[in-house]
Amino acid sequence: MSTLLEVKGLKKYYGTRKEVVKAVDDVSFTVEEGETLGIVGESGCGKSTTGRAILRLIEPSEGEVLFQGKPLTALKNAELRKARRDLQMVFQDPFASLNPRMTVGAILEEPLKVHGIGTATERKEKVKKLLETVGLTEAHYDRFPHEFSGGQRQRIGIARALITQPKLIVADEPVSALDVSIQSQILNLMKDLQEEFQLTYLFISHDLSVVRHISDRVGVMYLGRMVELSPKKSLYDNPLHPYTQALLSAVPHPTPGEKRERIVLTGDVPSPANPPSGCAFHTRCHACMEICKTERPALKETGDGHFVACHLY
Ligand code: SF4
Ligand code: MG
Repeated sequence: MSTLLEVKGLKKYYGTRKEVVKAVDDVSFTVEEGETLGIVGESGCGKSTTGRAILRLIEPSEGEVLFQGKPLTALKNAELRKARRDLQMVFQDPFASLNPRMTVGAILEEPLKVHGIGTATERKEKVKKLLETVGLTEAHYDRFPHEFSGGQRQRIGIARALITQPKLIVADEPVSALDVSIQSQILNLMKDLQEEFQLTYLFISHDLSVVRHISDRVGVMYLGRMVELSPKKSLYDNPLHPYTQALLSAVPHPTPGEKRERIVLTGDVPSPANPPSGCAFHTRCHACMEICKTERPALKETGDGHFVACHLY
């Protein structure tokens, strides 16, 4: 496997004169070709901002994003538009991201037109074929988004992301708006498509069970920082960061019959406008030591690709 995406020291700060919100604060990781990297964390941890900043849907404040070794962060507008063919996004709310006045056929054809791909006939053929690939039918071509169920709309959202034959898909809470039974259908579809088209996913979700289902590796974010990053099995079997331990204690153990001790986090997530000094988690951590209040722990490898940012290790 080779590295498809490399994120180095990514920051996204929102500033007003009075305060600076550090939505993403020095995040680094890589995504290997063909893998799914899940990013989990509570709302406001910066996971969506990270995904958007990678695709430059919002401009990063600092840091570098390399795609196939080339810096995306340095591309000018026209080059960026061209690069977008390879980098697509699937959003949480398929309805909000689909134009209600356009037919599904027109919605799916649009990116092809933008990138000047194919003749009108070829584009239509391509769209119809893709509709079937994502579990819809040719007959859906002339329908409007409101005529579809939530799950079907997400299939359309996925098809729209796939139509330009991208290499990387950033999926931001793609199943969070759906019923649980529909969630697994969409996750399985995404897995099948990944295999068929050799896709690489950055899969963002607050839901640890969903992330476990689809990911090869998982990154855990807290207050704009990556606090743990690990192959899935190692993270779910042996979470190291006290925050990850607390998050996982609330979901069923992967081994039937085994139970985790429930760790209840006290206090709210602090504001990213005024994050705690040192380890940002220290105000809620049961293992907090003196050093944690002043020194920010770096993300360090503890073995076999398992990284953690915590003074305990
Ligand atoms: Fe807790 Fe300290 Fe580790 Fe932060 S660095 S998670 S406060 S033990
Ligand atoms: Mg979000």
